[in-house]
Amino acid sequence: MGAGLGLQPNGLRCLDAIKPGIVDTLKCSGCQVQRVTLKTSAGETIRTRESTMMEKYGQPLLIIWWWRLQQILASELPPEVIHLNHRCIGFEQNENNIVTHFDNGKTAQADLLIGADGVNSAVRKTLIGDGIPRYVGSMSWRAVVNYQDELLPLNEVILMKGEESIVYLLNVGEGNMSWLARKLLPDSTLSSTFAEAKSRVLREFANWMEPVRSLIAQTTPERILEGPICDRLALKQWSYGRVTLLGDAAHPMAPSAGQGANTTFEDAYELAECLYNYPDLQTALANYDNRRIQRTAIIQTRSAEGEKRYYQPTQQTNQHSPQAFEEFQNWVYDYDPNSDSRLKLWQETVAV
Ligand SMILES: Cc1cc2nc3c(=O)[nH]c(=O)nc-3n(C[C@H](O)[C@H](O)[C@H](O)COP(=O)(O)OP(=O)(O)OC[C@H]3O[C@@H](n4cnc5c(N)ncnc54)[C@H](O)[C@@H]3O)c2cc1C
Repeated sequence: MGAGLGLQPNGLRCLDAIKPGIVDTLKCSGCQVQRVTLKTSAGETIRTRESTMMEKYGQPLLIIWWWRLQQILASELPPEVIHLNHRCIGFEQNENNIVTHFDNGKTAQADLLIGADGVNSAVRKTLIGDGIPRYVGSMSWRAVVNYQDELLPLNEVILMKGEESIVYLLNVGEGNMSWLARKLLPDSTLSSTFAEAKSRVLREFANWMEPVRSLIAQTTPERILEGPICDRLALKQWSYGRVTLLGDAAHPMAPSAGQGANTTFEDAYELAECLYNYPDLQTALANYDNRRIQRTAIIQTRSAEGEKRYYQPTQQTNQHSPQAFEEFQNWVYDYDPNSDSRLKLWQETVAV
């Protein structure tokens, strides 16, 4: 996917627990953020902050190209286990197995189906049927372009705030950078062509200072990824019989806290642990639900609140006290697969 992704300490620790050493490979590809600069849409610097992630949590904020991350993860699997071009359209299960149906007419029989098919999950639709995702009111456009050091110092993230709109510049490593433009818009309709999407983002950001306009203008239309920002309300149960959910299929969240993929890696670690440690599928899946649902529901709610504040002037960006905000961040980032303290819930953590 043509976008940069921020991996945070909790997600990185889970990836390393799943495949020891993989985080070192990711660090070689991505960019470890050392400072974040906040600017106005006119290009004036409001403040620069050094990132304290590494010293506080032992892992950095790592920005990486989503596509590269996917390549690295896929390279850890035997190629023959990945079957592309199979769109799941439903499944049926009984006591002994589950049969998944694909739109190419093929079926697959298995003991367990993990619906990890994103915010518009077909597995969730068959399993829960809770309708379409909730549009949270902002559109996003993203692209990866060649890195230009005059626009973005190495190891820095630039966040620019305009009226009801923001732009991120991210170094995604290996000579590439990503721009991410987001704007509050009532209309979540997608453009019908790449050229139309490019014209739309150029129009929406027409009053921004350089380098934003020229960066968008330079980008090949086919590389611009347009999408509505969506989430869903938290579920009380993810697993039914031989089916469970993982990642955005289970807990799609607004990206304000940058936790969607990070909590997905937590899910993956915990599901593997439960399947390994419990004698039968039902007990394993019940424990997976227990470990994951409350934590991700809290992060989903916080992310939805954060999304509303994203577009407010910088002095009003946090409704929580700095101490409460820091406690929450500690709870999110301290998640450590090597410690049972990770299973503590938010309220228990605060009480400690
Ligand atoms: C603007 C933006 C910025 C973000 N930034 C961050 C960030 O910095 N950090 C972070 O942690 N998260 C971020 N996120 C969230 C993150 O992208 C998601 O949480 C993450 O991609 C979820 O991973 P997933 O594997 O569950 O779903 P996806 O990444 O959506 O993957 C789902 C996969 O399932 C496939 N699929 C879909 N339907 C079917 C079907 N019917 N049959 C078969 N396959 C199917 C898709 O092709 C896709 O490969 C951001 C999101 C947005 C929109």
